[in-house]
Amino acid sequence: MTSSFNPPTRTLMGPGPSDVHPRVLAAMSRPIIGHLDPAFIDMMDELKDLLQYAFKTENALTLPVSAPGSAGMEACFVNLLEPGDKVIVCQNGVFGGRMKENVERCGAQAVMVQDAWGKPVDPDKVEVALADNPDAKALAFVHAETSTGACSDVEALCALARQHGCLSIVDAVTSLGGCELRVDDWGIDAVYSGSQKCLSCVPGISPVSFSERALDLIGNRHSKVQSWFLDMNLVMGYWGSGGTRAYHHTAPINPLYALHESLVMLKEEGIENAWQRHRLNHRALAAGLEAMGLSFLVEQDYRLPQLNAVTVPQGIDEAAVRKILLNDYNLEIGAGLGEFAGKLWRIGLMGYASRKENVLKCLGALDATLQQLGADIDGGTAVAAANSLYNSR
Ligand SMILES: *Cc1c(COP(=O)(O)O)cnc(C)c1O
Repeated sequence: MTSSFNPPTRTLMGPGPSDVHPRVLAAMSRPIIGHLDPAFIDMMDELKDLLQYAFKTENALTLPVSAPGSAGMEACFVNLLEPGDKVIVCQNGVFGGRMKENVERCGAQAVMVQDAWGKPVDPDKVEVALADNPDAKALAFVHAETSTGACSDVEALCALARQHGCLSIVDAVTSLGGCELRVDDWGIDAVYSGSQKCLSCVPGISPVSFSERALDLIGNRHSKVQSWFLDMNLVMGYWGSGGTRAYHHTAPINPLYALHESLVMLKEEGIENAWQRHRLNHRALAAGLEAMGLSFLVEQDYRLPQLNAVTVPQGIDEAAVRKILLNDYNLEIGAGLGEFAGKLWRIGLMGYASRKENVLKCLGALDATLQQLGADIDGGTAVAAANSLYNSR
């Protein structure tokens, strides 16, 4: 007979999902109520306020899409684009490629602006593309490229979009909660995120927010949104404020309790403090990795604190290292993607996983494992280097 599934207890320091706080898991196990229960609707209203807090926006259309980050991405594209539209899509890693796929599946044309993986999106190239394509409707790019750990300048890119009369569509799946993001101040028109990265909630929910300008556009489309499920005009019948709430789909009730709890925790900490915590733990991790002799893919100025892409030492089988970390230390780190497969590790310090004890655990485990495999590193120095960074504050 198959028995209950009891997963091992891991420390999740990969590209997501990240560790989930016991408070968030506990929230999820509270009794289920109906998705139109007045108590649930009160919780939904709080959830929208909390998401506005996290996104730093007053956008009325701010809500959690009932599906993972990829659905938030799709929601932004299918609602804003119509067949024949043109969109400038920046690609500097995996996720810009998915944006292109979304644009094309809307019957729109993607004009690509390419940057090397590991580099941020280059605003100069974007400006040229905008000037060359005055008929473009939107500029789309990834804030925090999880495949490489590079952070792009959202404020500068959105300003360029606005100067050229374009909407901006921003992927903030890995950035929300982990590094500075200001939807209103930076003039973002459509933004989507994910629950399982720096919000440290369970996967499967995608917070999104649309500006007034985007909302107008969605309300005045010539064609129907190609996706019934993601059509914001319909979703708002359930999530919109004021009027009577009507059934659209059954919300993921208990996961939304979890999201509510994780956002309450973010607000208790203060989002600016959360950004700072991510930066401090990144600096300590970097001090340890660099003491060992390992290097980062991304230049310091563009490095994400929550996603650390680290080069694998010569002659070391990176998968063997990850296997030892998982089996002997219950520690998960991520592998390189695409051209970086076999060459990089991606160490996540996201949300609840961004803690001193995790930094020290990861450095100690990686140090010991690399020594065990005979890597050419400065063994035994990493934890001390990280500790001295923490102590120097
Ligand atoms: C994880 C991620 C996504 C996709 O989110 P899912 O929840 O896996 O669908 C999209 N964009 C970026 C930058 C991500 O890191």
